[in-house]
Amino acid sequence: MGTDLSPESLALLREAIHLAEEAERGGNLPIGAVIALDGEVVARGRNAIWQPSLALTRHAEMEALRNIPSQLWPKSREMTLVTTLEPCLMCAGAVLLHHLGRLVFGSMDPLGGVTSCLDTLPWYFKEAFTRIEWRGPCLPSECDPLYQRVLEYERRRGPIPPARPAQA
Ligand SMILES: [Zn+2]
Repeated sequence: MGTDLSPESLALLREAIHLAEEAERGGNLPIGAVIALDGEVVARGRNAIWQPSLALTRHAEMEALRNIPSQLWPKSREMTLVTTLEPCLMCAGAVLLHHLGRLVFGSMDPLGGVTSCLDTLPWYFKEAFTRIEWRGPCLPSECDPLYQRVLEYERRRGPIPPARPAQA
């Protein structure tokens, strides 16, 4: 897992940081992601878990994956997903299921990042992980402050209220 960053990846990460700041201004967590193909950004994603309505799977990486034009999917192996924060289990799984070729993240997430469980992934995902170039943390100096704010927002919010039981 390398951490060095090409000038091209740095520019993409800076765009993801910009999206993270937009997400925060919109009332969500400061996390952003872009997907690049042949040096061009083909999809963008901002965290959108709280606004406009509660949707806890609307992570920046999931949003970016959903925004890829469908005609580009045959080239997924040539795509790079660049995200400000180490992906969670759900997003890492989605990236592997979509067969992206490269992933670059800016900051580690020791509380929710996927790295801590890479050794115990189910076989399919473990095998898929051997085919992706996985890089990070590549820009902690700029992405760690965003992550610290993620933790502050989560602390302020407290635990997610339990779902109401169905009426009998
Ligand atoms: Zn995620």
